[in-house]
This record gives sequence, structure tokens and C-alpha cells, in this order.
Amino acid sequence: MIAIVKPSATPEQLQHFVRWIENRGFSTNVSRGDNETIVGIIGDTTQIDPFLLESMDIIERVQRVSEPFKKANRKFHPEDTVVDCGHGVLVGGGNFQVMAGPCSVEGKNLIQIAREVKKAGATILRGGAYKPRTSPYAYQGMGEEGLDLLLEASAELDMPIVTEVMDVRDVQLFVDKGIDVMQIGARNAQNFNLLKEVGKSGLPILLKRGLSGTIDELLMAAEYIMSEGNDKVMLCERGIRTFETRTRNTFDVNAIPVLHYLTHLPVIADPSHATGYTRYVRPIAYAATAAGADGLEIEVHNCPSEAWSDGAQALTPAQFDDAMRRIALIREAVTAEVAKA
Ligand code: PEP
Ligand code: MN
Repeated sequence: MIAIVKPSATPEQLQHFVRWIENRGFSTNVSRGDNETIVGIIGDTTQIDPFLLESMDIIERVQRVSEPFKKANRKFHPEDTVVDCGHGVLVGGGNFQVMAGPCSVEGKNLIQIAREVKKAGATILRGGAYKPRTSPYAYQGMGEEGLDLLLEASAELDMPIVTEVMDVRDVQLFVDKGIDVMQIGARNAQNFNLLKEVGKSGLPILLKRGLSGTIDELLMAAEYIMSEGNDKVMLCERGIRTFETRTRNTFDVNAIPVLHYLTHLPVIADPSHATGYTRYVRPIAYAATAAGADGLEIEVHNCPSEAWSDGAQALTPAQFDDAMRRIALIREAVTAEVAKA
């Protein structure tokens, strides 16, 4: 971290500032230029509030030179992380997987949808048993019974499941039941107690970007999980809130290469919640694949018009099958060795 000192600062004020920093256990490096004086602050500067320094009369500006996320940072871990989701399914480091299934687990149709998505090439089954709904009067999910249906499908099809955990008090239940991957939804992306709890669980985590979350906030949320010793974190771009109203959210395709640059963690794209409409899901799935996502999460329903939640954005199994064929072609194009000109 560096602090740029105002030209008006007296040598005494500068010395006082340097002593204040050093008294907090940091070392400093003062460089006096013709136009400005810069104080380099060396040590674990995540402990320093840059706004506090900027509020000091002699400080012009404070800049971080290293990011506050350490465990998620590619600088300290250059190789891609590969997350083992169970049942032999790996994500990241060249392993591309598609998670698919209904928004909500609704009952017997789950196994039918699961068979269809598996046949089309999905390798992880998704489905929500605990649903974060904007309205308390909307369908809230089947709860534990929904988890059991997912587990039955997982056993029959030998595929891992990903399902959302909303409450710190439910984390142990998910672990005890043998859920393969826990999803942290967009609405809980800054529920720090929940992040810490799933960090302690050691299970693979699919961490969604917050509704209006920046990339740095997503990385700091991952850092919360990782700081508890769990490095099995997959990040998920699921669209962000913008001024646009024609789609449910705005898919931030930039986030995929930006995250790959900043972090070693796998990056998944969710074109379903990013767009909100079936007609837009496939184009955005293709864009995300082309941009280098390590996987996709797509909502699929046997009869979208009858779905208990998010029917408007569900693909039918036939649409999903068509998408999977094209996604495979796009993957081939982006990963192929090409001759140099
Ligand atoms: C979901 O995956 O069903 C979901 C609620 O997603 P998000 O948290 O991204 O809105
Ligand atoms: Mn949904």
C-alpha cells in the first residue's frame, strides 16, 4: 500500500505519520520526489483501512498495490485450481462441466429432468430445495424432502448435485446428508457468517456473484470461504443489476476473463439468471463458453409453463440438448491448437 503525501505537509507532519504507521507494526519506505512524497507501507496491509489514512490532513491519496484477497489471488497461486465435485467430476484447469436441472426441486419430475440433462451431457445436477424468493409468499422450496429427491437422482445417475444452502443452521444437514456441492446464492454473497460456515464444512462451493456485487466483492467473498481452510470454491457470474430492464439481469461477460486473470479459482457462468428469458439463455451460454468459462449452470424444466419457479427462463430438455451440441463445438474452437500464421 502506498500513501501519497500532500506537498503542503511539513517534515514534522510526515515524520509523525511514519511513526504512526510503524507503531502499528508496519515498516515504511519514504521516497521524496520533486513533486510528491510517497510513503510505502510494507506488511499485511489488509489490516489498514485506506479511508482512515485518506481522512488524515497530510494524505492526498492511498493506493493498494496488492489486492486484499490473498488465498484466491493468482499471484500467489499461478496454477488453475481444479475442484473435485465428487463422482469423478472435476471443474477447472481445462475441465469444463455443465450443471443443469430445474430451478426448484418440485417432486417426481426431478428424476425425469435429471435423466434428460444427463443424456444431453450435463455432468452435475442442479435443483433448489431451499429457495431464496423476493416475496415471502412465493414458493419457498421443498426443504429436506427436496434434498432427498436430489440424492436419489444422484445415486441413480451417478452424478454430483449442487443445491443452495441459505442458512448457517442448515450447513451441517447438507454435510450429513452427503450433498456434493453447496451453492451460495446471489442474495447471500455477502452473508459473511454463512460464507465462514461453508468454509468450515470443507465441501465444494459454487459461489454466486452478488446482485450488485463487484468482481472484487466476489473475490473477497471467496476469500471468506478460503480463510476457513476450504479452497474448493467455484465462482459464478450470474448477471448483475444494471439500468437495463429488458432482461432480468445483465450478463457480465467481461467478468470471465477478468476473474481468470485475477484468480486461480474456476469460473462458472449462469446464463439463466443472467437473462431471465428462455430465448436469451442459449446465446449467452455460447458467449460464456467462448469467453473461457470453466462450466455453465443452466435451468432446465420438463414443462417450463408449469414450473414452480423461474419457468420463464427454463430450457426444455430438447432445447438443452441442442445447446449442449453447440457448446461442445464452441469448446472445441476455443481450446483447439491452431497453426501460427
Ligand atoms: C438459483 O440458482 O436458483 C438462484 C436463485 O440463483 P441466484 O442466486 O443467482 O439468483
Ligand atoms: Mn432459478
